[in-house]
Amino acid sequence: MGREKVYKLVFQGIYFLIFSIVLFCVTMIVINPKKYIQLYPYPGTAVHLFADSELPEGTSKAAWIDREQGLFTCEIGYGVQYPYCGVIIKYKDSASPNYDIPDEFAMPDATSLDLSTYERVHLSVDYVGESNAMNFFLRNIIDEKPLTLDAYGALPYIHYEYDPMRKPNEVEFSRMAVARWWIDRVKPPQELRTPRFDKVFELGIDLPALSPAGIHRFKLNSITASKSYFSQMHLLITIYALAGVAILVFLVQLLTSFWARRLTEENRALRSTMIIDPLTKCLNRLGLETVIGEMFPVADGASVYVMILDLDHFKKINDTLGHATGDEVLRKVSFAISQELRADDFFGRWGGEEFIIISKISGDKLEVMIGRLMRALQSITLQGPAEPWKVTMSVGVTDARKGESFDTTFKRADEALYQVKQSGRNNWKLG
Ligand code: GH3
Ligand code: MG
Ligand code: MG
Repeated sequence: MGREKVYKLVFQGIYFLIFSIVLFCVTMIVINPKKYIQLYPYPGTAVHLFADSELPEGTSKAAWIDREQGLFTCEIGYGVQYPYCGVIIKYKDSASPNYDIPDEFAMPDATSLDLSTYERVHLSVDYVGESNAMNFFLRNIIDEKPLTLDAYGALPYIHYEYDPMRKPNEVEFSRMAVARWWIDRVKPPQELRTPRFDKVFELGIDLPALSPAGIHRFKLNSITASKSYFSQMHLLITIYALAGVAILVFLVQLLTSFWARRLTEENRALRSTMIIDPLTKCLNRLGLETVIGEMFPVADGASVYVMILDLDHFKKINDTLGHATGDEVLRKVSFAISQELRADDFFGRWGGEEFIIISKISGDKLEVMIGRLMRALQSITLQGPAEPWKVTMSVGVTDARKGESFDTTFKRADEALYQVKQSGRNNWKLG
């Protein structure tokens, strides 16, 4: 597999991966799967009813109708200025001796639940009564679990008032606040005035202050906290980040393809300078060998002729008129011959004053072609010491035969050339 194909596959793989993750994120945003924790019923809880009847003047009463069913009533009486009544659920340590005794609870029994990652509480609580508001509250341990009533009272009271008639009853943790009365009483440092939910050790529901007097009925079914399996914000950030990565990858791809194209062009340019003879501007030996490598051995039925062109008495031109003139002659010969060739003929300098033509010409046109080539040199005249000199050449020709190597073909043409030289030059011969 080519390197470019591999790159393409790698980039496609990256895009596919990015696309899959984005698709997953979008799906999760749409579906928004939830993770739940049930807070009631919960193993090892103590569920207590409370009312202001615990105070000397209090007249509100809380009473179970059916503890198993979670059925209880609050009867609000105005014996005190701010009557209260509700239910409280405390969580017990599994190591505590009271763990298996329902609703039995002592301060050292307490444990806590980490709800800091949860988003909301679902209250399945039936209510029949006159109040159009209900208070959901919890207490969060600051450092260590409270062992005295004073320590208990020092724990932030965090709450939210909801409408019991609007179903489903849900409380967002983000909407809960530390109670003002608790702040006024305890005067806590600033950090305790923002609610925390990492060590929730009790939660409950009660009637808000100044609720209507009379009977209020409750049925505690279940309390559950939930959170999104994946944070919507993280999903969005992931999508944006991946979009950024995709753009980056695209730029990298653009750049690499740009450089690859430039490199290919440069290679091609370099290669063309490598295979061109700087003096005569026709193919050099390397160029010819490349062509030969591609064409030989020839296929059955292909008509390919190899011609070796050797200038006659070139040494004399050099010796008498100088090397520079010799060079000029080579240049002119190369130009004159290339003028006579077709685009699919290959012409190059094999070495010294020897050229090669490889032509896909048919046998019957061979004589005409070589005649033209030899005549082409007549236009080149040199001023000799006395009279003008003619530039001539001898040509050895042969056809490339099916399956044979270039060397074999070449030897036959070279033999023909030798014979032309022997028989007086300025002629051609088919070998
Ligand atoms: P023949 O007719 O038998 O081919 O005789 P010739 O003199 O052409 O052959 P010979 O092989 O004896 O000499 C070739 C000469 O070509 C020898 C060398 O100095 C000269 N020659 C080779 N390359 C170059 C070149 O690049 N420039 C010049 N000016 N002369 C070259
Ligand atoms: Mg020679
Ligand atoms: Mg020669």
